[in-house]
Amino acid sequence: MIVRLAIHACLLLALASRLQSSESYWDAKRDEMVRDQIEARGVVDERVVLAMRKVPRHLFVLPSYRPYAYGDFPLPIGEGQTISQPYMVAIMTELLHLEEDDRVLEIGTGSGYQAAVLAELASEVYTIEIIPSLALRADSVLKDLGYNVEVKIGDGYLGWEEYAPFDAIIVTCAPPYIPQPLVDQLKEGGRLVVPVGEEGQVQTLTLIEKVAGDIVQRSITPCIFVPMRSGHIQEK
Ligand code: SAH
Repeated sequence: MIVRLAIHACLLLALASRLQSSESYWDAKRDEMVRDQIEARGVVDERVVLAMRKVPRHLFVLPSYRPYAYGDFPLPIGEGQTISQPYMVAIMTELLHLEEDDRVLEIGTGSGYQAAVLAELASEVYTIEIIPSLALRADSVLKDLGYNVEVKIGDGYLGWEEYAPFDAIIVTCAPPYIPQPLVDQLKEGGRLVVPVGEEGQVQTLTLIEKVAGDIVQRSITPCIFVPMRSGHIQEK
């Protein structure tokens, strides 16, 4: 009896791991995530929804967290950092109003997941990460999946002057104030989305638009992100 139970348990485990290695299993998980967490909460931009349905989030999280990749929460990615909750990725992306030939800058590459979502929507994506090991891992995952994203190890407070100006800039870590170089590197008509607030406190997701030379600022929603470090590390 015990032996029979053990055999059944082993067969079930083998089946579960076979299921998790099949693409249709993850496709179904992703469809569910998009339906229940993103569409149900009012994200309406069809291109954003399609991108979220396409990017294999489970390949951007650490293997031990893969079973939770499509859950309604952020997950650790190592080095004390996190991949954002899927809904937060969707609303921030929607706020950018990306068009196909846009040039986008992301600050805080992390796992590379947000950069992949951006790359589904815009032709040029640049992303900066201050922790070298995360930047290198994200770069390799993005390349393996065929995404055309430029990853740089550096300090996002400085932006990326070489490729400025940008149609859109997204910051996925929280600075205590809006870094001026990012505003300067935004095109006329451009959008900047950034969670602003002190470390350890609830921050405010903020949308900035450059309209006829002026800055129009709008608070969107309270949020919690990892802090943006002022590193000024050696650039590579
Ligand atoms: N967009 C990521 C989430 C990253 S979490 C994803 O999709 O997975 C925020 C990231 O910002 C962390 O990896 C952190 O190391 C990075 N970060 C913090 N301060 C930074 C800075 N000054 N410049 C660039 N990246 C920074």
